[in-house]
Amino acid sequence: MLRFTELDQSYPAKRPAKERRKDFDEIYGPFNPKAGADQAARCSQCGVPFCQSGCPLHNDIPDWLMLAAEGRMEEAWERSSATSTMPEICGRICPQDRLCEGSCVIEQSGHGAVTIGAVETHITETAWKEGWIQPIRVKRETGFSVGVVGAGPAGLAAAERLREQGHSVTIYDRHDRAGGLLIYGIPNFKLDKSVVERRTQRLQKSGVAFQLNTELGRDVSLEELRERHDAVFLAIGTYKARALTCPGAGSDGLIPALDYLTASNRRGFGETIADEARLQAKGRKVVVIGGGDTAMDCVRTAIRQGAASVTCLYRRDRENMPGSLREVTHAEEEGVVFEWLSAPLALKGDATTLSGVRVQRMGLGAPDRDGRRQPIVLEGAETDLDGDLVIAALGYEAEDVDAACGGGGPVLTPRGTVRVTERCRTSIPGVYAGGDIVRGASLVVWAIKDGQDAAATIHADLMARAESAQTRELE
Ligand code: FAD
Ligand code: SF4
Ligand code: SF4
Repeated sequence: MLRFTELDQSYPAKRPAKERRKDFDEIYGPFNPKAGADQAARCSQCGVPFCQSGCPLHNDIPDWLMLAAEGRMEEAWERSSATSTMPEICGRICPQDRLCEGSCVIEQSGHGAVTIGAVETHITETAWKEGWIQPIRVKRETGFSVGVVGAGPAGLAAAERLREQGHSVTIYDRHDRAGGLLIYGIPNFKLDKSVVERRTQRLQKSGVAFQLNTELGRDVSLEELRERHDAVFLAIGTYKARALTCPGAGSDGLIPALDYLTASNRRGFGETIADEARLQAKGRKVVVIGGGDTAMDCVRTAIRQGAASVTCLYRRDRENMPGSLREVTHAEEEGVVFEWLSAPLALKGDATTLSGVRVQRMGLGAPDRDGRRQPIVLEGAETDLDGDLVIAALGYEAEDVDAACGGGGPVLTPRGTVRVTERCRTSIPGVYAGGDIVRGASLVVWAIKDGQDAAATIHADLMARAESAQTRELE
């Protein structure tokens, strides 16, 4: 350990931009065993590991880094999987620069953080390769049944932990595939679909039942689920796209980011897209409005589809954008043009087709509550940008949860998200919630944390119920 003074920070090899522009394969290769061990050995085994505080799951990072450095990979995997149901997914798509790696003391000392995410992926990929990851073997069935609504990372994490405890679990999802945004939002070049499907298949083999194409509020009601199951976990994410309000925004030519990304992901599964002409960037001048992870996924998808040009319009500058800077760098390398300090003033075109965007140039004012500087309009600074495929990627809010719950849903926050106690309990006994539907649009790692936490609470509540039933019987 402590080899950060002699070994430089190194990530797994990134494919050249020229090559990766042409396909949807992941952009990073794996670590070879020596590189993985060497990078893990850069850790200084801090007494107070700030990396762990920076990780929402409080992963035992120093421990599994030491085990990986010593080649004790099975132990490293056991330690890593104790706190996370999907370490190889977090290792790929967590914004580590803002979480574990951003908090690493070696980063602070100027040596470059330990490449924690890449080592985490390496450990769990080794576990899959070696056959250490097997379906869950339940020691004792409890006889309790839990319904999970939403097969995204929050729902899948909860299902895994609940099944480990011996509960019978059924996951309901309105989509035809399990995985939530891991499948239909995040593109393959960040997270290959096989990595997600491997996880859902393992759950199936562990006895978790999936009822897909089943929507809460359409095909099944909350009341029915509460009758069917001893507990219900709501993990339905946030899918109401924030609207663009400038003139022209009502045109059908303005494409919602998730429609665009879902179509691209479905194409990747070999499906034919009904709205192909509208949702395909090949040969078109693409303008994406927004500066978050979704916008980055759209611009990089458009590059891979063979767009004539791809421009990202964002009202703040590079330093004040919400998305990961690492993703911006990848996009720039791949040929995306960023128009910083630019906001849409109007969309040009008609009710069905767009031809461009009238752009308002912006300046930056004082920082807001998050510390990011507020955009301010520079009067008279306007310009035109050509674009025949305009995509809005402005973020997501909760859909109407009360309507989905037939009017008898849990208490909501003013933002329309589900209000929960610290332990994921909602206002309805036996109904729990977590992930984006509680936090608002967030991160996969937080969804996993909520799923795991909710499973722990549900298990504790069910066991308490069993105990009090037993006591009543004895009386
Ligand atoms: P979701 O993943 O949204 O899953 C919810 C599930 O519930 C879905 O399968 C949905 O079909 C289902 N559902 C919804 N309503 C109903 C209903 N009424 N009945 C039945 N089923 C229903 N995070 C990162 O950490 N890193 C990234 O790189 C990253 N990139 C992103 C890129 C994009 C394009 C987007 C949109 C988000 C990205 N995120 C990223 C955020 C991350 O994907 C989410 O925070 C995470 O998926 C939330 O998990 P969840 O389980 O709460 O919800
Ligand atoms: Fe870092 Fe995410 Fe892994 Fe935590 S889960 S150690 S934040 S990559
Ligand atoms: Fe190792 Fe960095 Fe964590 Fe310290 S903060 S234990 S150096 S990974």
